[in-house]
Parts: sequence; structure tokens; C-alpha cells
Amino acid sequence: MPHVITQSCCNDGSCVFACPVNCIHPTPDEPGFATSEMLYIDPVACVDCGACVGACPVGAIVPDNRLDAKQLPFAEVNASYYPERPADVKVPPTSKLAPVLPAAEVHARRQPLTVAIVGSGPAAMYAADELLVQNGVRVNVFERLPTPYGLVRAGVAPDHQETKRITQLFDRVAGHHRFRFYLNVEIGKHLSHAELLAHHHAVLYAVGAPEDRRLDIEGMGLPGTGTATALVAWINGHPDFAHLPVDLGHERVVIIGNGNVALDVARVLTTHPDDLSRTDIADHALQALRGSAIREVVIAARRGPTHSAFTLPELIGLTGTSDVVLDAADHQRVRDDLAAASDPLTRGKLEILSSLGGASAPAPRIGRPRIRLAYRLTPRRVLGRRRASAVEFSVTGTDEVRRIDAGLVLTSIGYRGKPIRDLPFDDATAVVPNDGGRVLDPRGGHGSGRPVPGAYVAGWIKRGPTGFIGTNKACSLQTVQAVVADFNAGKLTDPVAEPLALERLVLARQPDTVDSAGWRAIDAAEIARGNNDGRPRNKFTAVADMLAAAAGAPQTPSRRRLRARRRERIAG
Ligand code: NAP
Repeated sequence: MPHVITQSCCNDGSCVFACPVNCIHPTPDEPGFATSEMLYIDPVACVDCGACVGACPVGAIVPDNRLDAKQLPFAEVNASYYPERPADVKVPPTSKLAPVLPAAEVHARRQPLTVAIVGSGPAAMYAADELLVQNGVRVNVFERLPTPYGLVRAGVAPDHQETKRITQLFDRVAGHHRFRFYLNVEIGKHLSHAELLAHHHAVLYAVGAPEDRRLDIEGMGLPGTGTATALVAWINGHPDFAHLPVDLGHERVVIIGNGNVALDVARVLTTHPDDLSRTDIADHALQALRGSAIREVVIAARRGPTHSAFTLPELIGLTGTSDVVLDAADHQRVRDDLAAASDPLTRGKLEILSSLGGASAPAPRIGRPRIRLAYRLTPRRVLGRRRASAVEFSVTGTDEVRRIDAGLVLTSIGYRGKPIRDLPFDDATAVVPNDGGRVLDPRGGHGSGRPVPGAYVAGWIKRGPTGFIGTNKACSLQTVQAVVADFNAGKLTDPVAEPLALERLVLARQPDTVDSAGWRAIDAAEIARGNNDGRPRNKFTAVADMLAAAAGAPQTPSRRRLRARRRERIAG
């Protein structure tokens, strides 16, 4: 009775290291790790000990006799990763040694390694976790919002609550006595890079890719057009997007691009609001969805079925919960692609696509709205006078033009990093140039540039906007290895002052700084609000409300200093 990894796999590899018989692949030291859609348990080698279940931070691993109907396809997905072989032949174990991090050296005359991390999403929290396992290392995390955890809070769809369980791991990291949160503090506004570096040995930017790739076609920008990522932030109650004008009073939505973000948006727009009301979806979004007139969401990809950007686990999840259909022409494309496909992942996706219902009839007027996957449609322009009314596509590679009527047009063509003040930026790839996490200044040095002392990157701003939450674990570990090596080599300058001086500086610049106790107070207040009506939490969507909740945290010496600073500001 082997265990099975299911849809919410975060890919961080914790299970790999917990498994005593090395039956979970690809391991972080195997070539396919960073690009694989999930991890897979070898059903032949699994001894059913359950060690991986305890290690998985998102509850994605289930014994195969306890899979529910929606999870059942994952038994086959796990098995199909491994070659066919006689039942008693196991895949030979590969090395799965946890990468060894050299310890930050402790010198009598040097201060212990102190690192500022900018951003508080998965890459930031995995980096903090790696640093804090070492003796004496101190970590300060700076975040622009009063709430931490980046896209886990504001990007993961609300109906994927298991995925959000990773925050329990992050809360444990944040609870470490050598960890400090400086929330509601913006680097580049309240503090400069130079000031931050003066108070730390190193500054590690894990700020993600906060912007969207833009589709430059006529009509984008009309009312009724927007981006899927902004809609996701609105659904998740991100304070910057709480007042996004979202009009769901139209029968059809077209989403351009077919990655996992497109699937998230389509699923949320078509799920029954009563089901969403049991999640942490923002109140404003739930209310809008209750009044929605949407009958169909079309996800339009410019290439064919073989090149679908969504992953197999997400397609399984989508088709298990939603009514998903295909046009007749796309059914034919799927059949043609299936005949040519050889790799199991692509075949898995195509087989599911081939089993979908047809879209020949108009979307039904009763029941839940449906999702239509459409292929080989290259967007040409958005039509409409005062607002969007349709999208005009060309059938990719031909002169044939197709028009799909829609009152809401969303692009979902990927995230994009944005420049960080005082650091180099590569506009073409939208990342900070780096070598394994060490920031490089392309203007100096040989070939690719020379390292910028004390500056590091991890996550999407380092490698671009691809991968899953746990992909950041290996990425952040690599950067932390560079930080520790540079510290041990004496390349990093000791902070100029005691930690209290940093606190004073931050509070002088931002008296509304939220600390760890403040975050715990916000967290507890949101959970209490949610529990009143059977939800995991009911988020605050206004910064002022978050700050009011944070102010209710128990008093500590540093919180007393914070209050005194605020009183001074009010008096002054
Ligand atoms: P993505 O996976 O990169 O997909 C982008 C889509 O946009 C592709 O279909 C791409 O088509 C299309 N596209 C790009 N430029 C286009 C253009 N000019 N015109 C038309 N279409 C265009 O991006 P994403 O969906 O934003 O996801 C970002 C990352 O987050 C991915 O790694 C994703 O797996 C991950 N994520 C994971 C989950 C999850 O696991 N549940 C949820 C959300 C996001 P082409 O392929 O033809 O370029």
C-alpha cells in the first residue's frame, strides 16, 4: 500500500530527505528537480512507513487506500514517472544527501553573521530557515505590507487552502528567537539599500516578480480589460487591489494564456460561491461572485494542446471540480498531438483533454458556468467602443480570423520582476543579474560582471517567474551558501552599530512598523473573524485595519519603544 503525492505538492523536497528508502524523485540533486511539476513516489520501492507524510509541509501525501475520488488519478501520475519494470525491481537509489551548508564561522573579533532579507514570501522564508539553523546567525526580514508571506497570502487561489498550509512552516521560522520581522517597512522608501547594508553583513532580496508581462495589442486598457494576476490579488484581498474595478456582469470572460494562473482564475470564477465562502477569499470578491452573470470562461492559448503551460496536477484538479469543454477543432488537435506524444507528462495531459466534453452547444443557462479551453489562437486586438466587447484572434500560423465575444478580457501571460533601487537590473529577462545568488554589476569585471559586495538575490527576482512554492527552497539554499562562503572568506563588512541602532532607525523612519507580535495579533484577529462564519480566516484588506489589529499585540520592550515613537510623532 504505497503512499501517493497529490495535487498540492509544493516541491520543496522535505519528503525526499525524510524518506528512509529514497523512493521519492526527482531529488533536489537530480537534473529534473527544478523543472518537474511535482515529486513522485515510486510505488514499487515505497515501504509505507509514512515518514514523508509528517515531513510534507502542505499535507500532499496520502496512503493510496485513503485517496478520495479527486485524488485517485495521482496514483497513476506517481507511478508513471518511473519506468515500467517487473514488480520486484526497484529504481536504484541515487544520492539524496541534504546539501551541506558550511557553517558561518564564529570569530572572537567579528560580529555573528547578520542578514537582512527584503521580502517575506517563500524564497525569503526558506532563506531565513537555512540561515537560522546555524549558530548565532541573526535574520531581519523587511516587508512592504503589514502582513508577510507574499504570494502564499496574495497569489495562491483561495480554494487551494492545503497549499497555504506552508505558512505554518513559515510561522515556525518567524518564531525563532534570532528572527525579527520589520513589516510595513519599504526598502527604497523608508530605508535605502546602503543604510540596510550598513546594519547587516548582507542584504538578500527575495522580492519576487510583482508586475505582469503586458500584452501590447490594440484595445488592452479599455474598461473590461485587465490582468489575471491583478484579479488574483483582488480575490485574495491584497490591500493594493481591494478597489480594483471588477465587473462580472457579462456572460463570457476570455483569459489569454493557459498557465496555472489562468486555471486558478477560471476555476474561481466558475466555482459556486457557497464553496468559496468556506475559504479565505476576500469578502468583496465573494460578494461580486454571488452576483456574477458569467456563464463561460474561455482560456485561449496561442499554441497547441501539447504546449499547454498548465501542469498535469492542476489539470487533474480542474477537471475534477469544474465543467471543462473543448471545441471540435481542438478535439481533433488533441487527437493529432496524442498520436505524436511520447513523454508521459504530455500524454497524461492530452489523455485528459481528449476525454473532455464538446463545446458545440452554447454554454448552458442553468447550473455552474463552464470553462472552455481553446488552442492556436493568437490575440490581435480587443474590440469595443467604451469597454471591451470581444477579442479578435488569428488562428496561429494562418490568416484566418476568429472573434470571441467577451465582457471581461484578462491577460495571463506571466509575472515580471521590477528593478530594485540601487541594484543592477536586466530589462530583457527582468531579473537582477546574479551568479548563484550573488548580485553582479554587469558594468565591471570580466564578461558577466563583478559581484556587488553584500548584495544577494533569491526566488523569482533571481531566476524569473517559474516554478512552485517549494522550488524556492533549493534556490534560497544556493544563495545562502554564497552568503556564508563570502562571510567566511572575510568579504562582508561588519554592521556599523548594535542591533538596537537599527531598530531606532527603522522606527524613526516608519513609526507604524509591525513586528512579529504585531503580525501574530493580525493573524489571530483574522482567524477569529473567519471562525465566526466557518472560514479559515477573514482577511483585513485595508492597511489601517491591519495596523489597528497589530496595535492590540501584547507589550514587549521593543513594542513599548514603538508606541513611544508613535506618541512622539503624534505630539510633534
Ligand atoms: P506561465 O506558466 O509562464 O504561462 C504563461 C502563458 O502565457 C503561456 O500559455 C504562454 O504561452 C502565454 N503567453 C505568453 N506570452 C504571450 C503572448 N504574447 N500572447 C499570448 N500568450 C502568451 O505563467 P503563469 O500562469 O503566470 O504562472 C507562473 C508560474 O507560477 C508558473 O511556473 C506556474 O506553474 C506557477 N504557478 C503554479 C500554481 C500551482 O501550482 N497551483 C499556480 C499559479 C502559478 P506560450 O507557452 O505559447 O509562451
